[in-house]
Amino acid sequence: MAPFALGWLGWRRLERGFRPANAELALFEGLELVRGPKRVLAVTAHPDDLEALAGGTLRLMALSGSEIHVAVLSDGRQQSNWRSNLGQIRKLEEEHAANILGYSRVHYLGFRDLSLSRIPELGPALESLWDNVKPEVLFTFDPSFPEPYIVHPDHLTAGRIVLDIVRTRPDVAVYFYGTSDTSVIVDISPVIHDKSQAVLAHRSQLQAPPAVYSLLMRVYAWLRGRPVQLKSAEGFRVLSLENLTARSSRGQWIPGGRSEKINSPPQAGSARRRTRCERF
Ligand SMILES: [Zn+2]
Repeated sequence: MAPFALGWLGWRRLERGFRPANAELALFEGLELVRGPKRVLAVTAHPDDLEALAGGTLRLMALSGSEIHVAVLSDGRQQSNWRSNLGQIRKLEEEHAANILGYSRVHYLGFRDLSLSRIPELGPALESLWDNVKPEVLFTFDPSFPEPYIVHPDHLTAGRIVLDIVRTRPDVAVYFYGTSDTSVIVDISPVIHDKSQAVLAHRSQLQAPPAVYSLLMRVYAWLRGRPVQLKSAEGFRVLSLENLTARSSRGQWIPGGRSEKINSPPQAGSARRRTRCERF
C-alpha cells in the first residue's frame, strides 16, 4: 500500500506543477515564444539537460528562423561513467544533438560538473558570452521552483547565475525549464520525433535500450500537455512578466501572463524597463 500511496502522491505533485493557472494564456505565450525569428541563448549545466527539457521548443524556434546559441557550463565528465575521456565523448554527443535540433552554435564553457557552485570564474565567463550573443530570449533551469526528481546542485547553479546576471541585463525574456510552476506551454507534437532523437544522441548517458528513452520522452511530453489537452508539450516559467499584450517601444512582443514584482536596477529613460521578482 505504501508504494502505491507514495506513487500517487508523486504523481499529484508532478501534475500540480505542470498545470498552469491560466491554460489559455499559457498556450498563447507558447505560440508567441516559438514565433520567430529571435536571438536565443539557452544555458544548461550538462550536455543532454536541454534536449530533454526544452529540445522540442528549441527545434520549433530553429525552424522559425531563430538563432540559437547554447551554453553548456560543464563537460559532464563526472557523471557516473568510468570512461576517462567522457568529457570529449559528451561534447561529440552534444554536437550530434545540436545538428538534429538546429542550434546555431554550442559554446562549451568546460567547467567541472558537480561543483559548479564553487567556481568563481563561471559567472564572468557566462557574462562575457551573454554580451557577445546579446540574446532576446534566454532559457535556463528554474532555481526557485524546480521540477521534482531532476533537482541537482549544478542545475540550480545554472539558474541562479542567470538570475544574478539578468539583474544588470534586464532587456531579455527569461524562460525557466525544469519548472514546477508552469506558466507557458509549447505544443511540440510536430517535433517530438526530433526531440526524441536529440535525447538519444547522448548515448553515453543511456542506461536502458533507446526505445525505453523514446517512450519516456513521449510520456513526459504527454504529461506536460495533458492539462491543456495537447498530445506532446513542454512547459516553462517566464520571468519578468507584466501583461499579456505589452509591447516594447520598438513594437516587439514582451511576454506576459503573471505579474512578478522584483527589483531590478533602474534604467533611466528606458521604455522597456520591467519589474522583476524580489524573491530571487
Ligand atoms: Zn543535468
